[in-house]
Amino acid sequence: MGLLSLGTPLKWSEAKEFADHVRSHGIDQFLSIYHKMKDKQKDCLLWGDEVEYIVVSYDEQNKNAKISLRVFEMLAILQKDEQDWLKDPEHVPAPATSWRPEYGRFMLEGTPGSPYGSSLRDLLLVEPNMKLRRELALKTMRPNEVPLTIVSYPRLGCQGEFLDPHHEPNGDACRSLFVPDEIINPHARFPTLTANIRRRRGSKVAINMPIFKDRNTPSPFIDPTIPWDRDIFPEDKEAKEGAAKPDHIYMDAMAFGMGCCCLQITFQACNVTEARRLYDQLVPVGPIMLALTGAAPIYRGYLSDVDCRWNVIASSVDDRTPEERALKPLEHDRFVINKSRYDSVDSYISTGPLFKPKYNDIDLVYDKKIYDKLRSNDIDDQLAKHVSHLFIRDPLVIFKELLDQDDSVSSDHFENIQSTNWQTLRFKPPPPNSNIGWRVEFRSMEIQITDFENTAFAIFIVLLTRAIISFNLNFYIPISKVDENMQNAHKRGAVLNEKFYFRKNVFTKQKPSSRQPSPSTSTSTSNADINGASNGNTPDDDEDQDAYELMTINEIINGKSGGFIGLIPLINSYLNSVNVDIETRCQLSKYLDLISRRADGSLMTAATWMRQFVQNHPAYKHDSVVSQEINYDLMKTIEKISSGELEIPELLGKQ
Ligand code: ADP
Ligand code: MG
Ligand code: MG
Ligand code: MG
Repeated sequence: MGLLSLGTPLKWSEAKEFADHVRSHGIDQFLSIYHKMKDKQKDCLLWGDEVEYIVVSYDEQNKNAKISLRVFEMLAILQKDEQDWLKDPEHVPAPATSWRPEYGRFMLEGTPGSPYGSSLRDLLLVEPNMKLRRELALKTMRPNEVPLTIVSYPRLGCQGEFLDPHHEPNGDACRSLFVPDEIINPHARFPTLTANIRRRRGSKVAINMPIFKDRNTPSPFIDPTIPWDRDIFPEDKEAKEGAAKPDHIYMDAMAFGMGCCCLQITFQACNVTEARRLYDQLVPVGPIMLALTGAAPIYRGYLSDVDCRWNVIASSVDDRTPEERALKPLEHDRFVINKSRYDSVDSYISTGPLFKPKYNDIDLVYDKKIYDKLRSNDIDDQLAKHVSHLFIRDPLVIFKELLDQDDSVSSDHFENIQSTNWQTLRFKPPPPNSNIGWRVEFRSMEIQITDFENTAFAIFIVLLTRAIISFNLNFYIPISKVDENMQNAHKRGAVLNEKFYFRKNVFTKQKPSSRQPSPSTSTSTSNADINGASNGNTPDDDEDQDAYELMTINEIINGKSGGFIGLIPLINSYLNSVNVDIETRCQLSKYLDLISRRADGSLMTAATWMRQFVQNHPAYKHDSVVSQEINYDLMKTIEKISSGELEIPELLGKQ
């Protein structure tokens, strides 16, 4: 989340009157940026990660691990260096870290102070910077508080004490049966976003994640901790009227989703064409990395049957009306929409030679008027569809003071819609009046317990983009298959048990001069094996039916003999093809090893490890319940793993 504008947010009944105003000026702003920046060339690779933290507050007397609502006191300290620097950038050195608030009042977001550069040596700066962030955050905390990089706080919304300080769940913004408004970032934008999603939808959001059925879990499972008969708000009856499904963990507020932490990577492409190409090539990688980083098996005090967060967030901000969800015939609304605002990418956007129209096989809903306007202003079909698809959504938060803007210098209205379309990839146009180039953000990964793991996944994605560019790789599969992968990625143990569609013929037609990697997994620094090797794949096949197949994550990451070469071998071939010193290469191998071993199952995902921790806990009754006591021990153990005090070789290997 960028810096937040201040002002008076409009209630939904007022905001919707200005929806067309915001959309129409948003498009003018996009056009202005596009035409000013479309020819910008030769931007170098700059990139950065975003790490999100949950601040846990221990109550040692009662052996309880709660979440702390004090992050704004912490942020005031953490942001000081950056504020000083912004005031006097010529004399004050740039800060090493940068901090932002997040949706939850118990969350922090930390990024490097400035983006990393293109040299491979820069990759060695990542882990120390993440460690520094953790250290700095910890310094702002009380002795009983700690920043943990966990995806979801396991007992969010449980009865009794899970918040420090405690508040009863009876707030008007979310009207939740489980969480109070006080857990939301108090900046006006966030309670308004929360309430406007509810108002637009016509009911509270309804999140149902399948419960993990253990031997003592009642069947059917009807959650005894839901206050079924509460009667404070009209929405209270939704749970018993069908919003809460049997055999599921029911959640009814945006905080359950937007209170989850993830690991995002943004990188700058050398121009708009390369950005669009990288965006497309990373689309099929999204679900694979979601499964591989799976670290969120527990919700509202129960073990679930999913390993990751994505669908929780998707449901938590699903503002579609009953008509848009096709529950009623269209009468007041314009479109039936197949997905939440937070979901996987619906269309590829590159017009490069590798793209074929048949890959965009989802029936794309887009705003025809906006599409026409974009087309008549020299935006090509694919980009026009992408933008007019994002713009089927209403702006949810409109600040009265910001309604009228100069569209040639502001991107506020564009960003209003763009930044509330939360997809697996984000194509980020340059901000007006900046020297920032065209960027792509990779958004599907779950945050990991340690800085080592988060570094490994960040670096893996950056190196993969280098391999994609260097070898002109083709990962296209029909986008409907990517969606299928996305759903499979959630399943418990997906990394080892599920298969995913992935392209096996990733090399394009060989021109005599083009460099193609060999399938060698060698990590030597020799350049000998990268020139002109063929791996036996059919080059550029028009018979695309055979171009992809179902593979295990191990096959996708590590390769399959006689089939897909594997993402790690591709990265190793890339590293073999460039000049890299031994020290850097050795360190990079450690990170890549982690990814490789998570994929082949010789190391566990955090989700699997957490499940085992709960199931082996002496207080666990095999009834799916993650009690206060188990949660306390889990948080303490995660803290020790993240600080290096405790080694868990089955999670991280030998360090
Ligand atoms: P958002 O929350 O909108 O995704 P942030 O501003 O929080 O974006 O940060 C995104 C990441 O992009 C940070 O890690 C930052 O270091 C990095 N970054 C900043 N400038 C650039 C740039 N010009 N190119 C690529 N990445 C950048
Ligand atoms: Mg964030
Ligand atoms: Mg951010
Ligand atoms: Mg981001």
